[in-house]
Amino acid sequence: MRNKLAEVLIAKGIVDTHVLDAIRKVPRHLFMDSGFEGHAYQDKAFPIAADQTISQPYTVAFQSELLKVEPGHKVLEIGTGSGYQTAILLQLKAKVFTIERQLELFKKTNLFFKKMGYRPKKVIFGDGYKGLPEEAPFNSIIVTAGAPEVPKALLSQLKVGGRLVIPVGVEEQIMTLFVRKSEKEFEKTELGAFRFVPLLEDKN
Ligand code: SAH
Repeated sequence: MRNKLAEVLIAKGIVDTHVLDAIRKVPRHLFMDSGFEGHAYQDKAFPIAADQTISQPYTVAFQSELLKVEPGHKVLEIGTGSGYQTAILLQLKAKVFTIERQLELFKKTNLFFKKMGYRPKKVIFGDGYKGLPEEAPFNSIIVTAGAPEVPKALLSQLKVGGRLVIPVGVEEQIMTLFVRKSEKEFEKTELGAFRFVPLLEDKN
């Protein structure tokens, strides 16, 4: 079923062989809530705990491809959710730091990682708007919730040459890639419309 899902993603334009191999390997059904496992290899988003969603496989593959992960890269993920995107990044041999702001999901997914032997460098309960200054700079940063605006902290935590992939917008989001060209310069590319649950900022 995973091989078939990879074929569907190829038909939709995913070309990165490492990303496709990761899709073939990571058992998405184990990241789903009970009742939905049977649908795990459809190219669709599904509900998980705390009113959140496990992203659509095409979205996961599309964002992962844009990150250009190389083995050993330090990658920051905002929005751990089910942990599926985290597992894909680990399969790409990244050192993954992941942040989740919903306590219920943070606890559940952290426990699941331990049970399954997935080893992100850090799983953090907190507000991803602020990034993770103590571990910066990162080779890449992926935001898996819709951001009304681009958090400045995330841009500042990229290495020169590093990449931020972030869906920007409220009702609908435009997938946006920022590449840090120098300390001060960023190249911005917009890559089409997607729909995510919102990135929520902790105001306190
Ligand atoms: N990568 C996840 C996607 C989950 S949906 C997966 O593959 O399953 C997006 C997640 O972002 C939700 O779990 C939501 O709680 C979380 N989120 C929203 N705002 C956040 C913030 N400011 N900091 C960290 N996580 C946030």
